[in-house]
Amino acid sequence: MRSTDSPSPEPRVFPTVGPALFEAIRAVGARRILLQVPAGLVRNAHDLAGEIARESAARVSVSVRPCFGACDLPSAAEAGASDLVVSLGHAPIPNVRLERTTFFVEMRDARGDPERLAEIVAAAGLPRRLGLVFSIQHLDLADRLPAALARRGYSGLLGTGDRRLAYPGQALGCNYTSAESVADRVDAFLFLGTGRFHPLGLAWATDRPVWALDPAQGRLEPPIDRAALVAQRQMLVASVRDALRWGILVSGFAGQERSATARALEERARAKGRRATILRFDRLDPRDLEGRDLDAYVSTACPRIALDDRALYGRPLLTPPEFLMALGELPLAPYRFDTFH
Ligand code: SF4
Repeated sequence: MRSTDSPSPEPRVFPTVGPALFEAIRAVGARRILLQVPAGLVRNAHDLAGEIARESAARVSVSVRPCFGACDLPSAAEAGASDLVVSLGHAPIPNVRLERTTFFVEMRDARGDPERLAEIVAAAGLPRRLGLVFSIQHLDLADRLPAALARRGYSGLLGTGDRRLAYPGQALGCNYTSAESVADRVDAFLFLGTGRFHPLGLAWATDRPVWALDPAQGRLEPPIDRAALVAQRQMLVASVRDALRWGILVSGFAGQERSATARALEERARAKGRRATILRFDRLDPRDLEGRDLDAYVSTACPRIALDDRALYGRPLLTPPEFLMALGELPLAPYRFDTFH
């Protein structure tokens, strides 16, 4: 095992699976590669593994467990004898320490014409001062979209986030500090990417309307009803104000592990006359929480477990700020997103 005093390997970053990646693999002399892929790329994983193996002359294994993000590095058991990890679909998280040499392939997507996208925004009559947030796949648009918007009388601002974000205008499902840094200068946010995951997170984290625009399809989604989302969470918090027995969940993933936060919450719970037990896991299966003599849970792991997956759990599952609301240590409003820093 690597000593905690050893320097962390520096991540290498590549836009796509292509010649630069193959050349770098050959240059480091990697013989056994572990390929990590997110759920959205599982279908392509085996073709990509074959291509990497062919072009780099290394043996490539594919991790069966879909990778949630750059917070989720392979365990020793998963990595086995691999001398290189290739992680697809994510940018590195600058303040997450790597245990192994890791190449991040961001899978940049060149689709999306900035002029056409700006035209869609103008035709839909979005507010004039927009904060721009991009999925990592569409971050190349950050260079040209603000100018295209400006030609139509719009401002498109990119913020700079904290040490958990690698690029201005980037977002993680647990960190929207780039958006927060410009929130007081914009009337709405425009997310460039696909799916609801990031727009929902933006709505949790900021109090501005959030539109989402799929760059490849040119489809603009209507804004998310933040008030309804927040009201649901406030009702959940109110329902567990008197809960006595709490489980405090702690992830073992490198970029989700918050033992110090868990211990602080445990102390707050005890000070308020509650019982609390810290529960550790790597991948959380809702079935593992069944049959326990606990009234409710607070998750110090990925905040999206509590927010997006709550229907999977038989007992209320709160984020740390929500837990402090339930204890009466924070007000219910304004709602506070559980940002990972
Ligand atoms: S903690 Fe959750 S939202 Fe943040 S990078 Fe990991 S999986 Fe994504």
